[in-house]
Amino acid sequence: KEVKSLNFLEEIIETDLREGKNGGRVLTRFPPEPNGYLHLGHAKSICLNFGLAKQYNGQTNLRFDDTNPVTEETEYVDSIKADINWLGFQWASERYASDYFPQLFQFAKKLIQAGLAYVDDSSAEEIAAQKGTPTEPGTESPYRNRSVEENLDLFERMKAGEFPDGSRVLRAKVDMASPNMHMRDPLLYRIKHAHHHRTGDEWCIYPMYDFAHGQSDSIEEITHSICTLEFIPHRPLYDWLIEKLEIFPSHQYEFARLNLTYTVMSKRKLLKLVNEGHVSGWDDPRMPTLSGVRRRGYTPEAIRDFCERIGVAKRDNLIDIGYLEFFVREHLNKIAARVMVVLDPDPIKVVITNYPEGQTESLSIENNPENPEDGSRLVPFSREILVERDDFMENPPKKFFRLAPGNLVRLKGAYIIRCDEVVKDADGKVTELRCSYVPESKSGEDTSGLKVQGTIHWVNAADAVPVEVRLYDRLFKVEDLSEAEGDFQDYLNPDSLSVVQAFAEPAVASIKGPYQFLRKGYFSLDTDSTDQKLVFNRTVGLKDSWAK
Ligand code: ATP
Ligand code: MG
Ligand code: MG
Repeated sequence: KEVKSLNFLEEIIETDLREGKNGGRVLTRFPPEPNGYLHLGHAKSICLNFGLAKQYNGQTNLRFDDTNPVTEETEYVDSIKADINWLGFQWASERYASDYFPQLFQFAKKLIQAGLAYVDDSSAEEIAAQKGTPTEPGTESPYRNRSVEENLDLFERMKAGEFPDGSRVLRAKVDMASPNMHMRDPLLYRIKHAHHHRTGDEWCIYPMYDFAHGQSDSIEEITHSICTLEFIPHRPLYDWLIEKLEIFPSHQYEFARLNLTYTVMSKRKLLKLVNEGHVSGWDDPRMPTLSGVRRRGYTPEAIRDFCERIGVAKRDNLIDIGYLEFFVREHLNKIAARVMVVLDPDPIKVVITNYPEGQTESLSIENNPENPEDGSRLVPFSREILVERDDFMENPPKKFFRLAPGNLVRLKGAYIIRCDEVVKDADGKVTELRCSYVPESKSGEDTSGLKVQGTIHWVNAADAVPVEVRLYDRLFKVEDLSEAEGDFQDYLNPDSLSVVQAFAEPAVASIKGPYQFLRKGYFSLDTDSTDQKLVFNRTVGLKDSWAK
């Protein structure tokens, strides 16, 4: 195993442990907002939070950051839990920021009592104007110096539902001249008369992210609160609130979010793709959601390996999606059952003229040469088989080693055949190849002494299973969507899905996958499959066709 140097988060944790901070305890949290399905960016955060805790004998809480009633739903809560489990992680405790609403309300009153928060009647526009610009100090709200009594009264009445949405907010009294805009009297509470997926209509004031997040961390006594870089400017406020409230000192650390080429990773944008019908749903196999890549056939092992290998960066970067596919391919190569599928709606029939009519033999073909323990399966072979039209050329160039008049080629797991005759219809289209086989050339017991260069896959015509295969291309046409001007939907790749009718060997019906369709890539059985029709997704190709 290669010697790895510690990443900066490991350094911090090891230092904390050495210094006996937090009593040698490591408690991280993963704090999704239940307003969408998790994506690969979240997987990075999950692997990091759960991974670090595990590495240092700690634990991880799953905390739903459910402070915005309008966008949150129970469906999302359920999918998030399923996705984390699928990735291979188990939380110590399932928490909800909404469970802390009463406690957060008390915290807010404590700030008011200390003269550190006030009710502001200014409108959103007025508050934005007061904040000013980063280069000049802001201006104080006319409501900033309300008495503690008046603030407490108004805040209680905000909670009691006396005021309409947007009429008042609770703000922290920090510093309107701070160079950090987040410190210019940030909002702590807003009024929102909306039904919450857990607290129902109990509350009509909701804490803002900055007030809920750090305080929730502290309530749970989170030791290392890991978030993405955009929260760096929020850290002074995070620390200020904890200090003023005199509560458990959780600490926030930031790493660079994961961005991947040819896709978007924002729940808001992904929701748009779903709602506008650009994809079939959150779990469309082209989506970078965990439910999407799971359906497509990515494995949790591959995603974890990828997240581990890309490490933790402190500067934003864009990672080639091909790199993730490399890990998917590497894992599937070890575990995928090899099967033969003629990926061609219009295959060519090959008649083996010297093979006895009415006879079928069962060839034993290994399931995975990478893993002999996977054993072998029986594949029927008889006088008529199907091959892909592309595997035949009537006038081949020099190095064409597949089927051509007079050419010898090996049928995978079967025999060597030679193409003797090409049959065409009236339009000149090839309808059949008449071939002869070499009986002594059976795979594994070949005594023919013949050397052939090409091996092709095939299926037995009599029992080939017609199946549907879905091939995917990049969801977007451009590598870096953050650089693209205008609407991100304008960059959707119109050819990201193609559906192909194909013919599979009968074993596909009994193997659940993952599969390697020989010469075609790695595939998964899609959830649209029925007893009548099997549907497969191409998870990833065999080789990196994206290599420059
Ligand atoms: P989105 O922009 O997709 O809505 P978010 O950050 O608002 O993402 P949350 O539900 O708040 O979504 O995220 C939960 C956790 O996952 C947060 O700690 C967040 O920082 C982290 N996270 C989200 N996206 C990424 C990403 N691309 N890379 C790494 N971590 C991420
Ligand atoms: Mg968020
Ligand atoms: Mg978001």
